[in-house]
Amino acid sequence: MTLESYLEGTWRAGAGEGVPVADAVTGESVTRVSSEGLDLAAAVAYARRTGLAALGELTFPQRAAALQAAALALKERKQELYDLSARAGATRRDAAVDVDGGIGTALVYASLARKGLPDHTLIVEDDPVPLGKAGTFAGRHVLTTPRGISVQINAFNFPVWGMLEKLAPALLAGLPVIVKPATPTAYIAARAVRVIAGALPPGAIQLVAGGVPGLFDLLGGQDHIGFTGSAATAARLRSDPAVTRRSARFNAEADSLNCSVLGPDAVPGQPEFDLFADALVTEMTVKAGQKCTAIRRAFVPANLIDAVCEAVEARLARVVVGAPGADGVTMGALVGLAQRDDVRTAVARLAGAGSVIYGDPGKVEVVGADAERGAFLSPLLLRVDDTARPEPHEVEAFGPVSTLMPYRDTAGLDELIARGEGSLAGSVVSHDAGFVRRVVLGAAAHHGRFLVLDRDSAAESTGHGTPMPQLVHGGPGRAGGGEEEGGLRAVHAHLQRTALQGSPAILDSIVK
Ligand code: NAP
Repeated sequence: MTLESYLEGTWRAGAGEGVPVADAVTGESVTRVSSEGLDLAAAVAYARRTGLAALGELTFPQRAAALQAAALALKERKQELYDLSARAGATRRDAAVDVDGGIGTALVYASLARKGLPDHTLIVEDDPVPLGKAGTFAGRHVLTTPRGISVQINAFNFPVWGMLEKLAPALLAGLPVIVKPATPTAYIAARAVRVIAGALPPGAIQLVAGGVPGLFDLLGGQDHIGFTGSAATAARLRSDPAVTRRSARFNAEADSLNCSVLGPDAVPGQPEFDLFADALVTEMTVKAGQKCTAIRRAFVPANLIDAVCEAVEARLARVVVGAPGADGVTMGALVGLAQRDDVRTAVARLAGAGSVIYGDPGKVEVVGADAERGAFLSPLLLRVDDTARPEPHEVEAFGPVSTLMPYRDTAGLDELIARGEGSLAGSVVSHDAGFVRRVVLGAAAHHGRFLVLDRDSAAESTGHGTPMPQLVHGGPGRAGGGEEEGGLRAVHAHLQRTALQGSPAILDSIVK
């Protein structure tokens, strides 16, 4: 069975053999993915014609109501998505991060828009700014919907959350969306679209399962492209003439060698020591470490590194790898065998700079499944004492993998953090306000989000790896240089800002 795409309001399958997608746990075939023969030009025209017009008739709160209805429809049927997620290796906890996280994000956006955006189709950003002495000439900024579409290309690891966190601000901004999910988990995204499409205006959402050859040729300066995935794909797409010549807006979220720092005050026995070890293991094991925000580089004071190794190893020893839902399983499979091969290759490179101190990249005990048919991998903790080596700062093993490294002083720590060349998320775990301030001010320029974790906030903290819809998600440099979420900032980012000039009276009459 070839997975169907949702184009021009109907579900239809691509031609040809397609790309096979296997169950991450059993290796059995799930579906085939092909977009061969699908008319993407007609889909773009349909979005521009039908979707743009339908969304344009709605004010911001009306769009918020449609988004809320879509999210609630998904909530009703989330068990279907959990079941499909298990086929992609996700435990119930993993699926909740993706499915409930996605629904929650859409609901937060609906609420932010209802409360924070006008009952209008344009946003007036400021009061008139006087530009003449007599007060007859002024300027002010308005945000309006571009006459375009949003093409959203997502990574495999969050087929629901990754789609909804892009979809929500685009729809609120009035842009119809064409979603292109990653092939390995496209069947989960497609199911979610089946559930939500009826709640959205005609043409507001379309989905292409498979490649999108020629699609960028149809995009231009009124269009938006949202991309999540590897830095290599981001580089290829951002050099397309749609972006370089015709100035389609391009936002990228890419690889990230996120760090977490343990403070010198957080010695064994202090709550922060345990918080650090717990957070590291959580980040290594949720979604089997296939999270763009996971901690890849863990910096600890040189005099504490042995104690940290011991504490983390003890926690990793309690991780049970196996089939989602099987007795006692706490970590599922990677999305597929190719992904497991990629991670093993990356770990071999990392191990060249130091050593694997927990786990065996070639072997893992598995509960409820066959270790070789499924894409299972042990959690792998590495230690690199020679922090001048490039590998831990450059190689992203997109799996249950993290590397411990020592630092000696804050100046050295600043340098180590900066060697990630830009990250989505960082954290410092310490109860020493002076140290925290020093680290955060040094690290902020390299990060899109930075978490401080200590005994005071731990009970409510959302953790290192969880992007929040109210807060910015994105990062400079290697992380893609983009910005998503951040509350209504993401809606504004999809709109065109125009400075209007004229008499205060005419400006008022325009924005009324
Ligand atoms: P990927 O191979 O770069 O693929 C990402 C998306 O791009 C997929 O939908 C893929 O489709 C599509 N794609 C590939 N070539 C394309 C082309 N020429 N034109 C249009 N679309 C194209 O990345 P991935 O393996 O799915 O994801 C893993 C990577 O994503 C990791 O490096 C991770 O760090 C990063 N990531 C970042 C974030 C973030 O928020 N920053 C989140 C998650 C993941 P196909 O699957 O059909 O090839």
